[in-house]
Amino acid sequence: MAFSTGNNKYRESTEKIAKLSFAVGVYRPPSEGGSASLLLRITENCPWNKCTFCEMYKGHPFVYRSVEDIKADIDTVKVISDELTAVSGKMGQGGLITREVGMAMLRVDPSLNDNYCFITVFNWLHSGGKTAFLQDADSMIMRPHEIIEVLKHLRGTLKTLTRVTSYTRSKTLARRKLEELKAIREAGLDRLHVGLETGDDELLRIVHKGVTSAEQIDGGKKAMAAGFQLSEYWMPGLGGRERWRQHAENTARVLTAINPDYIRSRPLVPRRGTPMFEEYERGRLTLSSPHERLEELRLMIEGLNVTSRVCFDHNMNSWRNRLGGLLFHQDYEGYKFPEERPFVLELIREGLSIDESRHIDVKNLIAMESL
Ligand code: SF4
Repeated sequence: MAFSTGNNKYRESTEKIAKLSFAVGVYRPPSEGGSASLLLRITENCPWNKCTFCEMYKGHPFVYRSVEDIKADIDTVKVISDELTAVSGKMGQGGLITREVGMAMLRVDPSLNDNYCFITVFNWLHSGGKTAFLQDADSMIMRPHEIIEVLKHLRGTLKTLTRVTSYTRSKTLARRKLEELKAIREAGLDRLHVGLETGDDELLRIVHKGVTSAEQIDGGKKAMAAGFQLSEYWMPGLGGRERWRQHAENTARVLTAINPDYIRSRPLVPRRGTPMFEEYERGRLTLSSPHERLEELRLMIEGLNVTSRVCFDHNMNSWRNRLGGLLFHQDYEGYKFPEERPFVLELIREGLSIDESRHIDVKNLIAMESL
């Protein structure tokens, strides 16, 4: 009897939520809170979509979403959030979104377990409702007055948010005026994630990154001057054996000029279905070995003159230490430079001192995937 009373008390909210949806994309940086972040898709896919190593949005056209549609999505999140809070109140949980609240609603409608919008809002609120990540690849491509309108609506509607973050491209940042970036920052966007990959102009052309190193520096410095917290991602191994030295030296040069808050390492793995993978299969790309990548890393780190945090927060930073464990820790805060630079260089020396066969080689990973 008690069970059916519970069902009736929550049925109205559950049925309402089951009919609602908003746009959620696939990709977000690992450092953005896992399921603790609310994901909101304010554009779809990548407006550039030509980088030869990138498989993320290939075959999917870019969509510039209207401000009205995005605001409607934010309102939908608010309705789901309010219904969950109401159920919590009825259960005597004081408005807190606990596991018991989720279980009670799933008992009424088990199909909510497959409802990605419900799950996203539930996990976000369960974690305190603090952070949101705006998808997809280049949010700053939105006209400044439009993204400002979206941000103001987001902050005004979902008031528990303390941090809002997004991806963008260096090229797009370089095109924006400093005043525009400042206005976007003030409207409530806190952190930007940018795929730098390399600071070498020849390599940027080869991989069709669509930006020059001068534009990377201009865009990055403007983002910092506007007050964003900036994460720049670079790609060890991108130059292969042919261009490792210029890749390392120029990446250090560009990152030093920008001095972002975070520098994050994402070693190259050619992905099936990309132009770069075809180049690799045809024998036109020579992948560097684990020791060669460490030499490249050493050169890059030696050239860095920054106050950034340098991070290896991805499982492809898989070099081993003498004991067989990971050489670098893979947490999101990484190593503080310049203080910890000598320590990182010491770790690199350790990685180079052990037999190369004890490291994971990208070539072997690709061969295993082909089995
Ligand atoms: S800009 Fe980013 S998302 Fe777009 S193709 Fe290049 S790497 Fe991929």
